[in-house]
Amino acid sequence: MELSRRKFIKYSGILAGTTALSGSGLLSLKELTPSEAEAMETSMGQYEVKYTADAMCPAECGMEMWVKDGKIAKIYGNKAVPMNDGIACAKGAAGQQLVYSPYRLKYPMIRVGERGSGKFKRVTWDEAIDHIGKKLTDIKKKYGAESAIMDCGDVTDRDHYYRLFFAYGTPNCTEHGAICDTPRRHGPKLMVGGKRWEPDIMRPQLVRQPDGSLKKDYTYKSKLIIYNGWNPLVATRIFYESRGTVGAKVENGCKVVVIDPSYSNTATAADMWLAPRAGTDGDLFGAMLRYILENDNQNDPDKKYIDWSFKKYSTGGEDFEAAFKSWWQKKDPINDLSYGSVKSSV
Ligand code: SF4
Repeated sequence: MELSRRKFIKYSGILAGTTALSGSGLLSLKELTPSEAEAMETSMGQYEVKYTADAMCPAECGMEMWVKDGKIAKIYGNKAVPMNDGIACAKGAAGQQLVYSPYRLKYPMIRVGERGSGKFKRVTWDEAIDHIGKKLTDIKKKYGAESAIMDCGDVTDRDHYYRLFFAYGTPNCTEHGAICDTPRRHGPKLMVGGKRWEPDIMRPQLVRQPDGSLKKDYTYKSKLIIYNGWNPLVATRIFYESRGTVGAKVENGCKVVVIDPSYSNTATAADMWLAPRAGTDGDLFGAMLRYILENDNQNDPDKKYIDWSFKKYSTGGEDFEAAFKSWWQKKDPINDLSYGSVKSSV
């Protein structure tokens, strides 16, 4: 496909504007001047644009593959897809590395050398399936079906694995969602009997209006975001938390705190980075909760830390508070502080 001049200017505007933040907190697309577009058109030559969706994460953003001489030369988000609105995250934009990597697995391989020696031979799919089937049968005969544990990806690709391993005879099946989406959905259901909470930073970018146009029809209200052990600027969907965090900061002056032993990409952009020893974040949250409970003052607008009406919608609040407070006088032998205190009891 030869790109029309008009279309080229649109695309080159995407290139030029990908790092610019507009006043609305969204990535702005700056139009190139005709001479800039001309120069870019000449230097970039001609491409065939193929439209597809990115399957590298559950976002499945709309994408454009710019193909030259039969190979993907450039990857951009598809501006016609409202969800990602012309944007691709770093992982999506680097998709060529996956397609053309010399290490990409293109066919079944069976290891023929010692583990770690890197020696494999290419086999047919039938040979690969027979190989796995024999191994699974041997394990079942020797140790029993329940000795096998199946662990797979989440909703998008789990069902056939569950069926296979239930048929094999093991109930020990789990998936990525067990430490991710499932507790996120079921926690609020158990606690308050409702759907999971979703902050405003998880709103989609643009919403299709009845007349077919696209509009950003909400404003960010978040004032403080605390990310505990999470790195959303590189590890989640572009149109949710990663873009929403930037949007909330730019539009609403939102502060971002990152709690993470490692100096993650998100930590580099945060207003505050807290690096507790790995595994002690529970103590940090215990100390925060103790401070909140000890200093909550419903008559002081600056210290009205708790909205006690949550008790109307939940169960177990009193039990939890009593159990939590029962630890306040006890000393943690590791640091000689009373539990949940930031001050020494000595
Ligand atoms: S968020 Fe990134 S990796 Fe996920 S589908 Fe979109 S471009 Fe691809």
